[in-house]
Amino acid sequence: MLLKEERELITEYGRKMSRENLVKGTGGNISIFSRKDNLMVISPGSKAYDTIAAEDVMVTDLEGKVIEGRCKPSSEFRMHAIFYAKRKDINSVVHTHSINATALSCLRINLPPIYYLTIAAGPEVRCAPYALMGTSELAQAAFETMQNDYAVLLANHGVLTAADNLDFAYYLAEQVEYAAELYIKSRIVGQPVNLKEHEINDMVTIFDTLRYGKKQ
Ligand SMILES: [Zn+2]
Repeated sequence: MLLKEERELITEYGRKMSRENLVKGTGGNISIFSRKDNLMVISPGSKAYDTIAAEDVMVTDLEGKVIEGRCKPSSEFRMHAIFYAKRKDINSVVHTHSINATALSCLRINLPPIYYLTIAAGPEVRCAPYALMGTSELAQAAFETMQNDYAVLLANHGVLTAADNLDFAYYLAEQVEYAAELYIKSRIVGQPVNLKEHEINDMVTIFDTLRYGKKQ
């Protein structure tokens, strides 16, 4: 089986994503890019995560042409492929509909740098303009709004995180969701305080060590 290890990882993280309530039903998608093969490994569309076998995980090129797999690639493949084509530092993308991050995306507000563990994603997580699911407009909006960061909110839809490996991209999806919940809860009581520039820089240094010192 082509790219067996990557396809097994996608099934494992898909189940985890569903179990941890980062998505509902068949929503969300995960991919890994094999840069040496120039091929993308992506979760299949319209299939519940707890029923996906490695054979169902799709191998495609960056245009979405199927190379191997017995399902259809996620309809959001463009939103994954654009990062692999344009960013050399990104080899995995996780897209979820997690409740608190998606709530901020419905308000179309950015998640400010209030929580130290989302500094690796932002520091601020900006919200991209709305575009229809599955379109190249949505892919373009996500890519342009993320700039050189590693997370972006998708207006009235969800959130997307990226990293050089799936483990870290998934970690960012969890942390952005947690920080979005913190933001919403702290806004009930008052105005949360943003981390200062030097405090952000200290966390960037720590995350750079993690990201480049401990590769998957
Ligand atoms: Zn979605």
